[in-house]
Amino acid sequence: MKIFVVNAGSSSLKYQLIDMENEQVLAKGLCERIGVSGAISHKAADGRTYSADTAMPTHSEAFEAVVYALTKSEAKVIDSFDEISAIGHRIVQGGSIFPESCLITPDVLSKIEELGALAPLHNPAHVLAIRACIKTFGEEIPQIAVFDTSFHQTMPAKAYMYPIPYEYYEKYGVRRYGAHGTSHRFVSDRVAVLEGKDKRQIKIITCHLGNGCSITAIKDGVCVDTSMGFTPLDGFMMGTRSGTVDPSALTYIAEKENLSPADVNRICNKESGMLGISGVSNDNRDIAAAAEAGNKRAQLAVDMQRYEILKFVGSYIAAMNGVDAIAFTGGIGENDPGLRKTVCESLEFVGVKLDEEKNQLRGQEVKISTEDSRVNVYVIPTNEELAIARDTLAIISK
Ligand code: AMP
Repeated sequence: MKIFVVNAGSSSLKYQLIDMENEQVLAKGLCERIGVSGAISHKAADGRTYSADTAMPTHSEAFEAVVYALTKSEAKVIDSFDEISAIGHRIVQGGSIFPESCLITPDVLSKIEELGALAPLHNPAHVLAIRACIKTFGEEIPQIAVFDTSFHQTMPAKAYMYPIPYEYYEKYGVRRYGAHGTSHRFVSDRVAVLEGKDKRQIKIITCHLGNGCSITAIKDGVCVDTSMGFTPLDGFMMGTRSGTVDPSALTYIAEKENLSPADVNRICNKESGMLGISGVSNDNRDIAAAAEAGNKRAQLAVDMQRYEILKFVGSYIAAMNGVDAIAFTGGIGENDPGLRKTVCESLEFVGVKLDEEKNQLRGQEVKISTEDSRVNVYVIPTNEELAIARDTLAIISK
């Protein structure tokens, strides 16, 4: 059985075709500049590639280009789209409405659209993509929504409420929703397997560290707290996002520089974080190289991010009254031994002991703590597409 996984943005579309018999990716690709011009780059599992500049005024043309790439191009992997059993969509915001993945019905689609108020950059694009799929592939093929927020819906109110007047929660749904939930769920499930224990019996902290970063506390098998909030801007510093900042600092800057709310949003989302502090780049590798070469601001960015990660991990250990396993994932979490070392060294007080040699490994699943470490520490490459495909399969199999 083959599942088509879609991660749609307003002008881009990432996809994977996964064979669920063996959970292998048959092909993956990316459509870019949708609505402007249009280009597709596609790669089959055996290394064959196909790329083309194709007019993509809407997502429908992008999906038509994907169908061509999958079924007719020099990198085709199937004969017809009829071989595909279902489509799984990554949906960024499910609000309080969607505690789990579900079949997309007209009612579900209109709720995803309404939730666009909470995720204006993402949900409207998802809706466009779902409608385009109906147009391109017909009404019969099941489409499944897998929400980034669902895993965090188990948080208690004391963790998800912001201490601002209650009416804003009631009127506008302002609260912590979290993000990266599909990744945190995938990684924590894997931790339980590696620990050989029922997930409900262990306390886990998952650190998803990439361009976007979030940390989640998982107790009794469910998320009890997470660092991202109302939007994926909350938490700690990321590639270009600030994470939490004293709101008065922002209103002060806005007054001084005569900035609108949209300006402040842009600055905090696109010009802050590692980029804002280092002035070098948002990319961890560039910043590490600059720090190595003696750039003090790059070093400060590195130190600040590691310190903030440590504080979140520490606070979640306290929130759960302990921790059994910590996992690192995401481009940085999977590939930066220096960051993992700095964080783990300051967790010696809870019994973390790092295996220096294993910690040098990059991009692969490995336990990086020693055998006598009281807390097991893992690197677990995340696979959100596979998690989406698994949910999709589970729902259509019901
Ligand atoms: P993601 O958003 O998960 O794709 O992660 C992107 C981040 O991971 C970027 O900041 C990259 O610099 C970082 N990253 C990717 N590969 C490496 C690597 N080999 N060493 C250090 N950082 C890396």
